[in-house]
Amino acid sequence: MTLRPPPLRDDCFALPAGVDWTPVDQALAMLRDRLHPVVGQETCNLDQALGRIVAAPVVAERPNPPQANTAVDGYGFAHGSLGAGDPVLPLVKGRAAAGLAYEAEVPAGHAIRILTGAALPKGVDTVVLQEDVTAADSQIAFRAGIRPGANTRKAGEDIGAGDVALPAGRVVTPADLALMAAVGVSRISVHHRLRVAVISTGDELVEPGTKAAAGQVFDANRPMLTGLVETFGYDPVDLGIVRDDRQALRQAFDAASERSDVILTSGGASSGDEDHVSALLNEAGAMAEWRIALKPGRPLALGMWRGKPVFGLPGNPVAALVCTLIFARPAMGVLSGAGWCEPQGFEVPAGFEKNKKPGRREYLRARIRGGRAELFKSEGSGRISGLSWAEGLIELGDAGQEIRPGDPVTFIPYGSFT
Ligand code: AMP
Ligand code: MG
Repeated sequence: MTLRPPPLRDDCFALPAGVDWTPVDQALAMLRDRLHPVVGQETCNLDQALGRIVAAPVVAERPNPPQANTAVDGYGFAHGSLGAGDPVLPLVKGRAAAGLAYEAEVPAGHAIRILTGAALPKGVDTVVLQEDVTAADSQIAFRAGIRPGANTRKAGEDIGAGDVALPAGRVVTPADLALMAAVGVSRISVHHRLRVAVISTGDELVEPGTKAAAGQVFDANRPMLTGLVETFGYDPVDLGIVRDDRQALRQAFDAASERSDVILTSGGASSGDEDHVSALLNEAGAMAEWRIALKPGRPLALGMWRGKPVFGLPGNPVAALVCTLIFARPAMGVLSGAGWCEPQGFEVPAGFEKNKKPGRREYLRARIRGGRAELFKSEGSGRISGLSWAEGLIELGDAGQEIRPGDPVTFIPYGSFT
């Protein structure tokens, strides 16, 4: 008997199957609806707060600025005490400087030397810039027309005591540390860091740094995924490489569910013979294979293992990265208490030409040079060098598009996913 290749399929000329796959936005909406924060809370000091997720609104204990003060070096006086014409004011003795309160009241019709940041003494509501003044014999003179309150800052004009400085869900930035310090907050309530287990699956995989025999490949996904988890501000739990073996994978899932809040696996997520991730999740009865209209990306296996969500990512590193950024990233945002995070893309002129087919969303490895988006030279999904070359992704919507150089396209920098 001669073995023949399979016949052409009836639908081999059909439009991409994408049209009846789940659109990306619908898949995202489902994730957003079904997940909720899973982490507890603790308190921490400001020096431990960077990158943590605020669990309860941070309320200002003190206003900023704490008192009315001067924004410049100059001379302070009461605006209401100025007469008509160019003012000439006698100076009181002493001066007001930052951190050095001037206790006495400045009498009406007098001025006081005052330095940037100094609290306004009683009797002062306006400051004239030193450059606009002539000073001699304990007197100053300047031109008429200064506006009341000029060059001063009001108490609490930035933020008042009792105002919310940071909302719950905020990921604390260095600037937030400045704000909290300024308003007298030194301890805040934060979420526990989300623990994310990372597992690579595949008989062909070996550890980087060891010897690889013919047919073996170094595990590229685990360093990438643990790195991503760290840049997101979560704690990676590295559970190594697991062979394409149902029992070994079951044990790894058990360990992962004990030690983490969410599990990321790569490889074995389709429905082939060696696709044990999806098979195992199926067996556990809490598996959904999401055929998402997305390129690059094979089916995304989503399931629960002993109460912990599992993201079964494609094994291909390019697809694994894209699926992580597009799906796992915002989902982990919800689980971590930060809430759903939309990556902020922006429009740039295309520096390339492309005819995109309708029916699925596409993400292309790209970077910006000279104000235009460049694409990596190959769309091949095995090209890991292109992931590394790129500085972000071009997002092409679900509809078909003919893109010509100069047409606007959406670029999402990698950094915007963090
Ligand atoms: P799979 O999804 O298991 O069918 O794998 C798809 C492709 O990705 C295969 O060529 C695998 O060898 C490759 N692959 C899977 N996991 C990894 C990994 N951790 N690092 C590098 N390549 C991988
Ligand atoms: Mg595999």
